[in-house]
Amino acid sequence: MASSDHNLHENSNVLKRWIRFISYPFVVVATRMFRGIHFFEQFYIKLYNIYAFVSQMMFFVLCSLVFNEKVESDRFEEYLLMALKTLLFYSVFTYFTTKTKDILSSNRILIFHNWNLMEGICRIVIEWAKAIIVVICLREQGIDFRPSVPYAVSTFSYYLCTEKIFTDIFRKAFRYCAFAIFDDLEHLYVPLLLNIYTVTLSITIELYFFLTTKFVNFAFVCSYFLIYIRIKDSYYNYWKILELEKQTFDNFRNASQKQLDEYDDICAVCLNKMSKAKITPCNHYFHPNCLKECLKNSFLCPLCKLNF
Ligand SMILES: [Zn+2]
Ligand SMILES: [Zn+2]
Repeated sequence: MASSDHNLHENSNVLKRWIRFISYPFVVVATRMFRGIHFFEQFYIKLYNIYAFVSQMMFFVLCSLVFNEKVESDRFEEYLLMALKTLLFYSVFTYFTTKTKDILSSNRILIFHNWNLMEGICRIVIEWAKAIIVVICLREQGIDFRPSVPYAVSTFSYYLCTEKIFTDIFRKAFRYCAFAIFDDLEHLYVPLLLNIYTVTLSITIELYFFLTTKFVNFAFVCSYFLIYIRIKDSYYNYWKILELEKQTFDNFRNASQKQLDEYDDICAVCLNKMSKAKITPCNHYFHPNCLKECLKNSFLCPLCKLNF
């Protein structure tokens, strides 16, 4: 009895070894393929303008199909045209927002001398008048854009969350308004939150689309670009870095009052005196916030360039 058990055990071991032996090349090939695809996906995400453009276009086409925006016929090209029109009108808005932002951030308007302020306001008004002229001209040329409310809300909110200038504005707004909540890491939290919003929106619309559409292939392509790639982007480029940054920062010791008195020096980043400080492994003292600012750019000590 014991020997037959032993034989069975031996046989299953041999079988396992064979399975491992045969499947080995497949595992290697699959791993290589996955790594290759991952590399190209990351490269695509790094080309931010193209990445944003492709997502926006796909999302707009998806929305115009789902909300059945007024198109001449039920051909796919018509929906594509609708998406292009949407992008054109939103781009006009973006262009003039960029102009306004440039005027506001130019030094001249910051000196609140009455004359400069007046000039700044005039320039902004002129820029927006130009925007209205562009829209009127487009309409004269027959390029009209009168979206339905659900279409406008979903596409415009998606556009705001993916276009670089607006994500920058969100980040700055969060920096001033919600300083404590994000623990000074809003450059990672804000894109993450925006990505969560766009992915949730895409999933909701995709679910409805899958149930009703005849363009099934397009639905799959959309799932890949609007959901899978965005989730990957959030995970690898924001979530993981967020974890790493928090970990690195928590590892640094807080300086006691006695240590601060002994060190008796200014913070090397902002050149101010320190009443609170973090100590790096290389025994350098910095303001917690100054060190955090530096860690955003690289994981090197600002003073001796030691890699944390
Ligand atoms: Zn400092
Ligand atoms: Zn150092």
